[in-house]
Amino acid sequence: MSLARHHLPHLHTPVSCIGLGTVKWGRNQQVKYPAFELPTDATLHALLDLAAAAGLNLLDTAPAYGVAEERVGQILQQRGGADFVVMTKTGETFQDGESIFDFSAEATCASVRRSLKRLKRDHLDLVMVHCSADDVSVLRDTPVLETLEQLRSEGVVGSIGVSTMTVEGGLLATELVDAVMVPYNIGYRAHLPVIERAKLLGKGVLLKRALYSGPAQGSALTPGEMLRPLLATEGVTSIIVGTINPEHLRDNLEAGM
Ligand code: NAP
Repeated sequence: MSLARHHLPHLHTPVSCIGLGTVKWGRNQQVKYPAFELPTDATLHALLDLAAAAGLNLLDTAPAYGVAEERVGQILQQRGGADFVVMTKTGETFQDGESIFDFSAEATCASVRRSLKRLKRDHLDLVMVHCSADDVSVLRDTPVLETLEQLRSEGVVGSIGVSTMTVEGGLLATELVDAVMVPYNIGYRAHLPVIERAKLLGKGVLLKRALYSGPAQGSALTPGEMLRPLLATEGVTSIIVGTINPEHLRDNLEAGM
């Protein structure tokens, strides 16, 4: 059995209903997870073996995730350019222990060029704006979206999207881009109107924080019990779950079958 796949606007390859987040591949400073060591290459290969066997074909990374983007590029190259859709972001970097945001046209173009290099690709499948807390003003008052649209029209980027913080930002983003990424889990459903609006408009919806950034902090339910209702939510394209533990990934993949 294989994970279901769904189409996203401007992306040729449909993406699996569960995607793998890569924050923990590259950054263990100032993250909301309990302390951990960055995984070895062998662990990353074990994760990707499991993912590929289950039909998981979506990896989520970002320049703000420390060395994650570089590691994604290296590991996929070691696997012969394996067939994963890679989503990355623009707008945020993490330097000297601090998040820095820049949504200017110059920074957006430079970020995309850097991602192409790190991911060792000549085309980026999906690029999302990595919004700061004031997501509405990022979308309204900066040139980041028009710059991404230009890169999409030049064929450098496939789908474009926004990883949002607020419901208002999510609703605005659904009108403007191909896909949104929203925080959503069984204990926090505030962004449901964004999911419903995106469905109506035929836009993609990716979920973040699906396990409350770690199930132990959330509830006594198993990860499967937390993920299955989300998978059944109409309009959800894919749930991005972060894990560097192959056993945990196995559980999450089983929930998606
Ligand atoms: P999450 O997926 O809700 O939870 C991830 C945490 O849950 C990890 O610490 C992981 O630990 C643990 N976990 C995962 N599966 C588990 C299982 N089956 N059993 C027990 N524990 C499990 O976290 P998140 O913060 O939303 O991050 C997920 C991904 O979303 C990130 O990797 C990133 O790609 C993306 N993200 C994006 C943004 C943004 O765009 N602004 C923000 C946050 C996250 P183990 O490694 O030990 O399994």
